[in-house]
Amino acid sequence: MKKLGFGMMRLPMPDPKVQANIDLEQVCRMVDTFLERGFIYFDTAYFYHEGQSENAVRQALVERHPRDSFLLADKLPVSILQDKTPEDQDRTFQEQLKKCGVEYFDYYLVHCLNRRYYEGVKRLDTFGYLMKQKEAGRIRRLGFSFHDKADILDMILTEHPEVEFVQLQLNYLDWEDERVQSRKCYEVCVKHGKDVVVMEPVKGGRLAKLPEDAEAMLKAVHPDWSPASWAIRFAAGLEHVIMVLSGMSNMDQMLDNSGYMQTFAPLTGDEVKLLERCAEILSAVPAISCTACRYCVDGCPQSIHIPDFFAQYNADQMKLRQGQSVDKDAYAQIAAQGGKASDCVTCRQCEEKCPQHLPVTEWLDRVKRTYEG
Ligand code: SF4
Ligand code: SF4
Repeated sequence: MKKLGFGMMRLPMPDPKVQANIDLEQVCRMVDTFLERGFIYFDTAYFYHEGQSENAVRQALVERHPRDSFLLADKLPVSILQDKTPEDQDRTFQEQLKKCGVEYFDYYLVHCLNRRYYEGVKRLDTFGYLMKQKEAGRIRRLGFSFHDKADILDMILTEHPEVEFVQLQLNYLDWEDERVQSRKCYEVCVKHGKDVVVMEPVKGGRLAKLPEDAEAMLKAVHPDWSPASWAIRFAAGLEHVIMVLSGMSNMDQMLDNSGYMQTFAPLTGDEVKLLERCAEILSAVPAISCTACRYCVDGCPQSIHIPDFFAQYNADQMKLRQGQSVDKDAYAQIAAQGGKASDCVTCRQCEEKCPQHLPVTEWLDRVKRTYEG
């Protein structure tokens, strides 16, 4: 199986402000190209595109291609089941099968597991429930996506040896980062003999646009490799990684990714060392570790486009490093779509939902001082 999966969380949209409005025609073309090039893994989730990603999967993939020509992964949204009943859990799973138009999922994951959500998973006996679905043929392989420290992962895998794979946030910038612990989590999976699926190999796009000196260093070795391709090659080169997900938003990204992953070869030791140097350069640029998952946006009473502000702030930190000034017009354009950073009422709903555990309100205060001062 080729190691590139189509993450269906950043699909093309006619209007980037309306997540639920997906450009289905373009998605159909991307799906067809992906399959024609020999890639078969598609990854969706209950929350993606405000619930519309699963519908897009049905319309662009399931209803247009034979069921045995692709593998489909979906995820149980345990964050919204925390205070719910086992019947709600079952209803949600059945709803997902229906929305995707399938009788079974090839890969099914407990979504976004961490120490806190694990308590709800234990109370609902989620793994017991999902094993029953597996026995009934509605799940082929069972796993979970994970956002916490390596010791918590070790505990969960020890308590649930029935789990077959783990989806990890893994990229060359987070590899040694103590907040994410990519390397340590990967090593825990290896210790337990679990396959690894990689999410955020390009860290929400941050590794696709590097500081000039870092990009020049990579271009000097492989002028035709994009920065994003370096990041995906790094993750895919790890022995126990079976799949690297890329949230592709347009046909160009699809063609780039599916092009170099046709004849993928792991990076050499010298190439990995170059990425370690890139990680050092990137770490010196102040940045918010937002992966643009957008879980925080729904429910914000002030309609603040949090990840868009954070992406603008990160891009401007690179500009400041090159002696340029921040782009207040771009900030104003984002603010015109919802609330300003200063509109935040510190209710902290967003912080509870953030898988990166970001102090969103503190960063919004920094954004406010940077652009509204
Ligand atoms: S803390 Fe601020 S940004 Fe977060 S949900 Fe509340 S108002 Fe929105
Ligand atoms: S702030 Fe957190 S929840 Fe919001 S988009 Fe970024 S990573 Fe996701």
